[in-house]
Amino acid sequence: MSTATQDSAPLADYRRRAREWLAANIEPLPRRPDGTVIVPDRSRPTESQLAEARTQQLVLHAAGWAGITYPVEYGGQGLSLDHEALWQEESAGYDVPTQIFAVSQHILGPTIVAFGSHEQKLRHIPPILDGREIWLQLLSEPSGGSDLAGLLTRADRDGPSYILNGQKTWSTGAAHADFALCPARTRWDVPKHRGITMFIVDMHSPGVEIRPIRQINGGAEFCEEFLTDVAVPAERVLGEENEGWRVTRGMLEIEHAWVGRSGGGGTRRPTGVAELVSLAASRGLAGDPGVQRRVAALHALARTHDLMSVRVSKGIESGRLSPGLSGILKLGADIVWQRRAELGLDLAGAAALAWPAGDHHGEWARDYLTSRSASIAGGSDEIQRNNVGEVALGLPREPSFDRDVPFNQVPHN
Ligand SMILES: Cc1cc2nc3c(=O)[nH]c(=O)nc-3n(C[C@H](O)[C@H](O)[C@H](O)COP(=O)(O)OP(=O)(O)OC[C@H]3O[C@@H](n4cnc5c(N)ncnc54)[C@H](O)[C@@H]3O)c2cc1C
Repeated sequence: MSTATQDSAPLADYRRRAREWLAANIEPLPRRPDGTVIVPDRSRPTESQLAEARTQQLVLHAAGWAGITYPVEYGGQGLSLDHEALWQEESAGYDVPTQIFAVSQHILGPTIVAFGSHEQKLRHIPPILDGREIWLQLLSEPSGGSDLAGLLTRADRDGPSYILNGQKTWSTGAAHADFALCPARTRWDVPKHRGITMFIVDMHSPGVEIRPIRQINGGAEFCEEFLTDVAVPAERVLGEENEGWRVTRGMLEIEHAWVGRSGGGGTRRPTGVAELVSLAASRGLAGDPGVQRRVAALHALARTHDLMSVRVSKGIESGRLSPGLSGILKLGADIVWQRRAELGLDLAGAAALAWPAGDHHGEWARDYLTSRSASIAGGSDEIQRNNVGEVALGLPREPSFDRDVPFNQVPHN
């Protein structure tokens, strides 16, 4: 969420303190000749990068710059989304470990705060905030991610534990995660939404096998996981048994709101509108009316999304708007990113397709390829449009043939 208006006095003070602390304590990121920031890709960190990021996160947390919107009782700062947005703006030019901890701190942690027991929050929120624990979502399965409630991973009660068996896929950050939130089916004799339970799974447990997936952009930040007789103690159920669909929906709303207001998930892509202007100038295209029109249209779109993000995020934060509207934010962020990446690729031209080592034009190709995933990750744009139609516009629900049928009577695959 970027600030649309001038900071109030307390926010201006907060911004000043953040600026001063960053300048005194954190290395600035390198810059290109035109002054724009070069953001390192930490999607698949090495062991030493991970250790360094954890140390840095401890420092950030101790200084009060982590867990900005989390309750104070669990190690957070108890501040607003505006404070968080200011911190993101100010820290964007510094080498803070945003990418490595983003999913843990902006999706999984808030889900535990919303649905976990007091003991679960005390146990997990402080280490999530100071970087000792990295979390991920184990939602999607090979049989389909959009029909999340149709998941096939099973959890059978066995004394004090549940035994999980199944396969998950496309899980961001699984290779270096410590814990996951993982919905699994605990009842098969009720309709699909009513037989799911959400589990906290220790990713170092026996029976968890992780295989990285090579991606189109050259990275391998997400993985597939095979769960074979993984024992999960009963106290690691998040929420109630068979109430996991409510928790899953809540987690997705948290994710969509965050992705939408942070412009794509806080991974600080290198290709904002300022970078496009600079790219156009470097290619001798700054005076081209066609280029000017496209950059201006993109700027207007991005600005509109920013303003709408502020409005909807604040509405959700204050309880005036339904959290279901978070799909609008994600949809807008996806569209802005993909259009910006397409324009970047067009402007960079041949330099984005073949570049000498060290030349930054390769970033445009990587950004374009990565941007294709925006309209799939976290729920596809088609699914967001369905949600927006139903929640925001009040259109009739999508027809469903299996909503009221016991899951064990629904044909699969
Ligand atoms: C970068 C990235 C990161 C991801 N990270 C994670 C993660 O950390 N954890 C995790 O669990 N998953 C993750 N995913 C997976 C993601 O959530 C799924 O890919 C997504 O939900 C779509 O599911 P699917 O790939 O199974 O496609 P499917 O559900 O098989 O859909 C295929 C196509 O059909 C369309 N479609 C399906 N149903 C409908 C419908 N009812 N109406 C209209 N169109 C429909 C979809 O829009 C899509 O175009 C990630 C994906 C990406 C790309």
